[in-house]
Amino acid sequence: MASTPHVAVVGGGSTGAGIARDLAMRGLDVTLVEQGNLTHGTTGRMHGLLHSGGRYAVSDQASAEECIEENRVLRDVAAHCVEETGGLFVKRPEDSEEYFREKLRGCEACGIPAEVLSGREARQREPYLAADVEKAIAVPDGAVDPFRLVVANAASARQHGARIETHSKVTDLLVEGGEVVGVAVEHGAKSGERVHGVQSGREEIRADHVVNATGAWAGRVAEMAGLDVAVRPSKGVMTIMNVRQVDTVVNRCRPKGDADIVVPHETTAILGTTDEEVADPEDYPEEQWEVDLVIDELSELIPILAEARTIRSFWGVRPLYEPPDVGSEDPTDITRDYFLLDHDDRDGVPGLTSIVGGKFTTYRMMAEEIADHLCARFGVDADCRTADVPLPGSEDVDRLRDYMDEFGLRSPIGRRSVERLGSRADQVLRTDDPNPVLCDCEGVTRAEVRDAMDDVGTDLNAVRIRTRASMGNCQGGFCCHRLAAELHPDHGEATVRDSWDDLLQERWKGQRHALWGQQLSQAMLNYALHATTQNRDRDPAAGGPSPDYEAFDDGRRATGETRPDAAGDADGD
Ligand SMILES: Cc1cc2nc3c(=O)[nH]c(=O)nc-3n(C[C@H](O)[C@H](O)[C@H](O)COP(=O)(O)OP(=O)(O)OC[C@H]3O[C@@H](n4cnc5c(N)ncnc54)[C@H](O)[C@@H]3O)c2cc1C
Repeated sequence: MASTPHVAVVGGGSTGAGIARDLAMRGLDVTLVEQGNLTHGTTGRMHGLLHSGGRYAVSDQASAEECIEENRVLRDVAAHCVEETGGLFVKRPEDSEEYFREKLRGCEACGIPAEVLSGREARQREPYLAADVEKAIAVPDGAVDPFRLVVANAASARQHGARIETHSKVTDLLVEGGEVVGVAVEHGAKSGERVHGVQSGREEIRADHVVNATGAWAGRVAEMAGLDVAVRPSKGVMTIMNVRQVDTVVNRCRPKGDADIVVPHETTAILGTTDEEVADPEDYPEEQWEVDLVIDELSELIPILAEARTIRSFWGVRPLYEPPDVGSEDPTDITRDYFLLDHDDRDGVPGLTSIVGGKFTTYRMMAEEIADHLCARFGVDADCRTADVPLPGSEDVDRLRDYMDEFGLRSPIGRRSVERLGSRADQVLRTDDPNPVLCDCEGVTRAEVRDAMDDVGTDLNAVRIRTRASMGNCQGGFCCHRLAAELHPDHGEATVRDSWDDLLQERWKGQRHALWGQQLSQAMLNYALHATTQNRDRDPAAGGPSPDYEAFDDGRRATGETRPDAAGDADGD
């Protein structure tokens, strides 16, 4: 081992990025490898709730206490990623009074500030709540931007010397003499500059220790060293509504169940979710009934949702884990706690530790625990500083307000740019070049897009997660081509077109489930814009696959009929 231990972290979700930052800040050599973009896995497909712990205050008080602790830390160190929306647990007439009281007692026991509101008071806060909501418990839930937060962690890790490789898949663990000594990586082989880090080819990265932070994929990576980590992936749907029908996180106050939460997020509201165990974290049915269920059930709490337009749906897979001797049959019974599995202690295979389970809200705590563990193992005497040192962009919250004045940023666009960039706003927005808005729905200016491109090259999906461009109401209909145009002429036409196609494909993927009635018209408008005016459906003579329009349901008709039963895979296959 060199004097500075080298740790290879596999997985660029919240957990892996958090671990990379913590270890790098303690002075260790770190390489993070991620098979896709940062947030490619579950972290990019979660609900965006910064838990207060209220959700677990009855069923899992240990998790609830961790949540409220981390909720406070992240409001501090990641202020530019958190919106302090507050949360409500609302009770309808058929919900149990006893459970309402248990929830309140649970919050008190876990140190979660909780206030009881009458139905009228709750509706004063959230005017669209159903008239029959009897009362509510107010808690300090928040909304968090997972993309911004993970990018900030990776940026901080890199500032502390870490190497971050995205589009780099670990294809094997290097095992010598029964010990894990590194990882074999296949770097993305796409042409052009779209790969962040090494551009193609196989590399063996030797390390003093490997951390398996691959969430729902942790079993597969452990298997590469012949180890058994029985992750139990569980899928859940989230449906994004066209506007922000609520400003507060609204939870239904009843024992765990599907479809009981709405989280306001930027310009939208996200409805969720379901909980179904799946065999494969990458290949599982995305079913129409799940989308229908969240809309129907949550409309009981917020009736206007029944008439609102959905803009897309997406699914995520929980990386649940429970020790082998527990064997819960129902995935909703599996603990949301996290587990650190040192494979030396557990299996007699040194050099590898897996971290599984947990929540986005507790990612920093998970990172601290594993970094403590590794530092103790290597005899490194360095304290964790991630609870005190703000992430890039959150160094000084007051500076955000100063920027507003300094740049005269009173308009929603300026305000949102500054909220996104935090303390980096000065550096990014101070430009002599013209700075038009490229994404109208999210108010993203050219300067922000250019800044993201400086970081990630020509990968427009990576630009998207850094800026939110193309994530608004029109789902890229009016900005994908503008983003692509920013790449030209610095990059060749083939690279630009490939990247543009990837972005369109990514946007399209989530809209397929929302296509009926007026939504189909919106999709057809997007199609017409990109296909007919800019030839994004390709030259027909060139052949190749075109969208399968037969696969879309014709959905809720003008007559007001309910959607036809679209049971089965919403992909239509
Ligand atoms: C439906 C749903 C809603 C949720 N809502 C919330 C919420 O509101 N609040 C909350 O706190 N938590 C929420 N969670 C939980 C939270 O999203 C996860 O616990 C958290 O994001 C897990 O992060 P992770 O980094 O451990 O895993 P991931 O984000 O999945 O990261 C693992 C990474 O490893 C990469 N990887 C896998 N194999 C390889 C390989 N061979 N080589 C290189 N890289 C590899 C993957 O691409 C992936 O990016 C939700 C989860 C789901 C499913």
